[in-house]
Amino acid sequence: MANTGSAYDILFTPIKIGPKTLKNRFYQVPHCIGAGTNYPGFQMAHRGLKAEGGWGAINTEQCSIHPECDDSLRITARIWDEGDMRNLRPMVDHIHQHGALAGCELFYGGPHAPGLEPRTISRGPNQYNSDFATVPGCPGFTYNHMADEDEIDRLQLHYVNAALRARDTGYDIVDVYGAHAYGPMQWLNPYYNTRTDKYGGSFENRARFWIETLERIRKAVGNDVALVTRCSIDTLYGDAGVEVGEDGLKFIELASPYLDMWNVNIGDITEWGEDAGPSRFYRIGHQNEWIRHIKQATKKPVVAVGRYYDPEKMLEVINTGVVDIIGAARPSIADPFMPNKIKEGRFEDIRTCIGCNVCISRWEMGGVPFICTQNATAGEEYRRGWHPEKFEPAKSDKDVLVVGAGPAGSECARVLMERGYTVHLVDARDKIGGYVNDVATLPGLGEWGYHRDYREIQLNKLVKKNKQSQIALGQKRLTADDVLNYGAARVVIATGAHWSPIGLNHRTQKPIPGADASLPHVLTPEQVFEGKKPVGKRVMIINYDPYYMAPSLAEKFARAGHEVTIASVGGVGAYMEYTLEGPNTHRMLHELGVNILGETGCSRIEPGRVELFNIYGEGSKRQYKGSGQLPRKENDSQHWHECDTVILITSRRSNDSLFRELKARKSEWASNGIDNVFVIGDAEAPRIIADATFDGHRLAREIEDESPQHQKPFKREQKVWGVAYNPGENPELEWRL
Ligand code: SF4
Repeated sequence: MANTGSAYDILFTPIKIGPKTLKNRFYQVPHCIGAGTNYPGFQMAHRGLKAEGGWGAINTEQCSIHPECDDSLRITARIWDEGDMRNLRPMVDHIHQHGALAGCELFYGGPHAPGLEPRTISRGPNQYNSDFATVPGCPGFTYNHMADEDEIDRLQLHYVNAALRARDTGYDIVDVYGAHAYGPMQWLNPYYNTRTDKYGGSFENRARFWIETLERIRKAVGNDVALVTRCSIDTLYGDAGVEVGEDGLKFIELASPYLDMWNVNIGDITEWGEDAGPSRFYRIGHQNEWIRHIKQATKKPVVAVGRYYDPEKMLEVINTGVVDIIGAARPSIADPFMPNKIKEGRFEDIRTCIGCNVCISRWEMGGVPFICTQNATAGEEYRRGWHPEKFEPAKSDKDVLVVGAGPAGSECARVLMERGYTVHLVDARDKIGGYVNDVATLPGLGEWGYHRDYREIQLNKLVKKNKQSQIALGQKRLTADDVLNYGAARVVIATGAHWSPIGLNHRTQKPIPGADASLPHVLTPEQVFEGKKPVGKRVMIINYDPYYMAPSLAEKFARAGHEVTIASVGGVGAYMEYTLEGPNTHRMLHELGVNILGETGCSRIEPGRVELFNIYGEGSKRQYKGSGQLPRKENDSQHWHECDTVILITSRRSNDSLFRELKARKSEWASNGIDNVFVIGDAEAPRIIADATFDGHRLAREIEDESPQHQKPFKREQKVWGVAYNPGENPELEWRL
């Protein structure tokens, strides 16, 4: 039912942005997906689907304007030549088919883009090395060259030519990317710009490069496209950078005459989690303390992000004049159909972004397509042909028993029911969600519970529609006999995984001597969640895991007044650098006084103490000493550390005994009417929630295929030797000014 005449109408009221009209107030800001121009099908299908889902404008990710700005190994778009234009055109056409506007974000990163593929050096206001980890884990690695006035002219021409190529590709919007410390922001920002000529010093001089660039682009493209600039109005490092109350608002005022719309945010690239704030630290609309000042300084429309997934909050920021248009990256990934669902009043069907930043993590680590924890179809639109809202009807009337309602099982059951299969979803817990129910109780991770909530709501709706299907929670654990006698034609085992109770770990692939979670002083994370075992004053976390469990449990116990030490073989929460949770996690652990012992393994656990060692304590010299002899000296760095309680976060193992027993009794399947038994998610191999969800989704889509336990092939986009690929073949000609 359309929501016309309702308070939400403002969200569907068109607005002019210069020569173009945005049909509603939903604007997918530029965001990376790992498609770039390398994977044009992926780019087209992912962005086009959002246009189908009701977004008024959809932008590329950052789109490099010239080989001098090359961001590989992270995959981003490029608009260097006709070949790139060809690869971007299907995206534009797909977006236009659904009446939305297509935008191209012109990107020049300076030394924040490492130039690894073309081996180029970028230009900037001064020479500096990037504070961003251009190569993951390596901030300070890449430098630029200080531009003289000839090179400033050349750099501005790169922007102009890229804008013309964007226009000729069919884009409606050209966005000059100056947020995240990229491109023209390095000229405005005194943190980088310490020049003393007419491009440095005073505010007007520092703003000159950006203003001239906008003027030259406007002169070249006229009113063929809407001209936008993405601007960080506060870099968040006080008067060493750009502050909203100083240069930020002054720049908005100065540059407004050259623009059709502002796309604003806060922060820089080194800590861009201050913009794409993870839910662990930031709530919806977290940038508004800064953004709310913008409209004092401009009459041009303003778009800003804030992980807006709640229609009430969207209304609030528009009706109170904070912004005119709702910008979104992550909410548009989690639910490409959010605008249409709001229009139809289907609020409970919105697949809410949980703010985990796993999407970002894939781009940050480089070289792979992105994924989404909530939306298993994200990134799979082209290569697997998956649509988030459409499902192929069931191909048989074979019913399915799904054992386990965690991320994989609940998603598998949901998609099977969407397809029309009769499904029985059985779990020993009282609630859908599996271990997400535990994870969501960790400090700051409450919003991760939206993953469970979405599936719970949808499954309950689907069960009402299909009376044959059932959700049976709080059941006794099914045995192999129970499953064989159940009467289902197909069985999906989604029984999850557990943390090793004996300290199995990747450095020895063996237990840690003395690690035994049946003892009172040793706990697994599951036992922490159960809360039945007492936890002593001095907590020692033995950590061999790179993600959130160790820092989360450290926070939990430090906040409860315990003295917490983490002995960690790798960086604590190392993967959280990719999810942008890293810097604030380390600040938080520091604030709470958590003692971190890095490069530290554990060789023995005894009541009241653990034996620790430096993982590099075996010496740097290697020598062949004969069979049975280590090539290095014995590690002699062991020392004892006193503690009351030990928490083992060493590795996970699949709960696969039910699956293995059923496989061992394969000969009994046919006589019990069972066609096949599958194992999915963590029960097959432990993985992050996003990948477990994907696995459940995949099996439900492919359950009628030849070998459903194993992925069916997907379309690959690659250059094939011997097949003509002419555009871009002559870089000397095509990369010229
Ligand atoms: Fe949101 Fe997480 Fe999906 Fe990213 S991966 S869009 S943060 S739910």
